[in-house]
Amino acid sequence: MEGGAQMVLKRKKPEGASSDSDDSVGGLKRPSTSKEPDLVPDSSINDCNENDIGKFIGQASMLSTEMKKELLDNTWSPSATYDFAEDANHLKRKFKYSWLETYSPWLAYSRHQKGAFCKYCTLFPPNPNSFRGVLGSFIIRPFCKFKDIHEHCKKHMETHFHKMALEAAKSFLGSVPVDLQLDKYSQGIIKENRKIITSIISCITFCGSHDLALRGKHYGEGILEDLYKLRIDAGDLVLKKHIEHGKKNASYRSIDIQNEIIAICGDVIKADIVKKVKEAEAYRVLADETADISGTEQLSIGLRYLTRKPTRSKKCSSDMLS
Ligand SMILES: [Zn+2]
Repeated sequence: MEGGAQMVLKRKKPEGASSDSDDSVGGLKRPSTSKEPDLVPDSSINDCNENDIGKFIGQASMLSTEMKKELLDNTWSPSATYDFAEDANHLKRKFKYSWLETYSPWLAYSRHQKGAFCKYCTLFPPNPNSFRGVLGSFIIRPFCKFKDIHEHCKKHMETHFHKMALEAAKSFLGSVPVDLQLDKYSQGIIKENRKIITSIISCITFCGSHDLALRGKHYGEGILEDLYKLRIDAGDLVLKKHIEHGKKNASYRSIDIQNEIIAICGDVIKADIVKKVKEAEAYRVLADETADISGTEQLSIGLRYLTRKPTRSKKCSSDMLS
C-alpha cells in the first residue's frame, strides 16, 4: 500500500490535536524541532484491516469497481470494545463507538489514520475546489476534533458534496455491470428453456413408458398434444406461455425433435443398463432375430445379469439392449 503510505505522509495536522502535542499527527511521530512532518512511513499500516477506509484516502480514482463495492459493503469498523484511547493519546478526547451508530451509515473510523471519515465522500470524492479548510475533514484528512463531532457531522451531512456522494454511492451499488446484466438475462432464458424442455420430455417419456403412440393422424393432434394440454390445465404456465406465444422456429414440438428426444432417452437407458451389467457379478447375452411385418430381419439383444442387493440377497434382472 505504497500510495496510502505516501498520502499519510502528506496530510495536514488533524483538527482537534491539542496544542501541547503537536509532535504527533494521527500516529505519525515527528521531531518537535522540525516545522515540516518527517517522511517516516507509518508502521501501523500493516496492522490495520485491509478494508480500513483510511488506507484509501485520495485513491478513489485508482480503485477498481470490485474494490469500491467491497469497501462500501464491508468497510472496516472497530468493535464496541475497541480501545479508542490508544489512538487518541495525542488528543484531548477520544472517539466514541456510539457515534458510528449515530451517524450510520456514512461515518467510518480509521485505525490507520486514527480518526473519522465519511466513507461516501472518501470513495466518491467531491471536486477539491468545492471544500476548503474544515470541510476537508472526513474526506481528505481524518476528523479528530471529537469535542465538536456532532456539530461537524451535522454540517457535513448538510453539504452539497456529501449529498452528491451519497447519491453516487447509491447508484453505484444499484447499478449492475453490463456483463453481469447480460449474464443474468441469459441465465433467466436458460432456466425457462429448461423448464419447457423438461415438460416436453416428461410427456414423451410418459408415452414411451406406457406404450402410447405420440402422434395422431394429423399434425397437432394425438396423445402427446393432449398430454401438453393436460399439463397446462394442471398449472404448467411456462409450457402454456411457450405453446401460445413461443417462437414458431423453436417450439420443440416437431417430429424431428420428438425423435431426437426418444433417441436420447434410448441412449440414457442403454448407458444405465451397461453400468448395471458392469457392476454385476455375472451376466449373459441373449440374442434372437425375427422378421418384422415388412419382412426385414430384426435382431434383438438382451442382457441378463446377477446383482447383489444391500440385503445380501441376489437379484437376477433382464433388460433389452437393442
Ligand atoms: Zn460525506
